[in-house]
Amino acid sequence: MKAYKTREEPKQLQILELLDVRMELPEDKKRYYLSLKKGYEGESMFDQQIEEKLHNNCYVLNDLLLQFNNTTFQIDTVLIFGNMLRPFEVKNYEGDYYYENDKIYSSSGREIGNPLNQLAKTESLFRNLIHSHGFSLPMSANVVFINPEFSLYQAPLNKPFIFHSQLNRFFNQLNEQPSKLTDMHKQLANKLASLHLNESPFQQLPTYRYDMLKKGIICATCRSFALVFVGRNCVCKECGHVENARAAILRSIWEYKLLFPDRKVTTVNIHDWCQIIDSKKRIKRVLDEHFEIVGVRQWAYYV
Ligand SMILES: [Zn+2]
Repeated sequence: MKAYKTREEPKQLQILELLDVRMELPEDKKRYYLSLKKGYEGESMFDQQIEEKLHNNCYVLNDLLLQFNNTTFQIDTVLIFGNMLRPFEVKNYEGDYYYENDKIYSSSGREIGNPLNQLAKTESLFRNLIHSHGFSLPMSANVVFINPEFSLYQAPLNKPFIFHSQLNRFFNQLNEQPSKLTDMHKQLANKLASLHLNESPFQQLPTYRYDMLKKGIICATCRSFALVFVGRNCVCKECGHVENARAAILRSIWEYKLLFPDRKVTTVNIHDWCQIIDSKKRIKRVLDEHFEIVGVRQWAYYV
């Protein structure tokens, strides 16, 4: 089943990914970055399962950031069926864990938050939000543990958990239930997609400045700085990846813009950012082709 609303890599994660190769992230931010990355990978894995295994009539909405009563909440995936709404919280934990007194612990005894608490809050906010827009459908929420290398010992049978080994059966069940979609379902899907907030308020970026970051073009594949120019191409000495030089410059410009939205895009600035390119002309050509120039001579910059 193709998604009606697709998932995009969160901007915050994109920025952290770039910072991680260009500076030493403080330990807590590095941990945060890795957990964000792992979470995103898990969610993408679930998207893929849905795409391959779900064939019933439904709307698939991935990654909704919504607000109700001044509370912002996020739902990893929502499926809209004819007679049921199904929100999912996806967890990509790996390794052995155990369940005790409604708490979840790693095998070393460290407590991790029970996703059921989060799910209950999300479900209640989501229900109220939908009602406030005049929609009403029964709801059934689940936590999906997407990682095949995850075990949860002593997990109670009556909790709405779906483990990796149960996914095939779960999708078969969803495929077999009758589901008739009407105009109302489409309106609901459109409404939810339109309510989605683009900017997450949960930004936890480290402080960084231009002069703190390592400059140069990074390899699109292995993220090393070991690039050399061979004719019109950029070749990575680390992994052998070959990229068209213009494409590599353009990619670097987008990275610069993402990291420094307030810094001017000029030939001189991008030349400094890319380092490896000898010729300023080559950079100016890419800028002229893809961006609009504002101002003249030394005051000119691109938008
Ligand atoms: Zn490489």
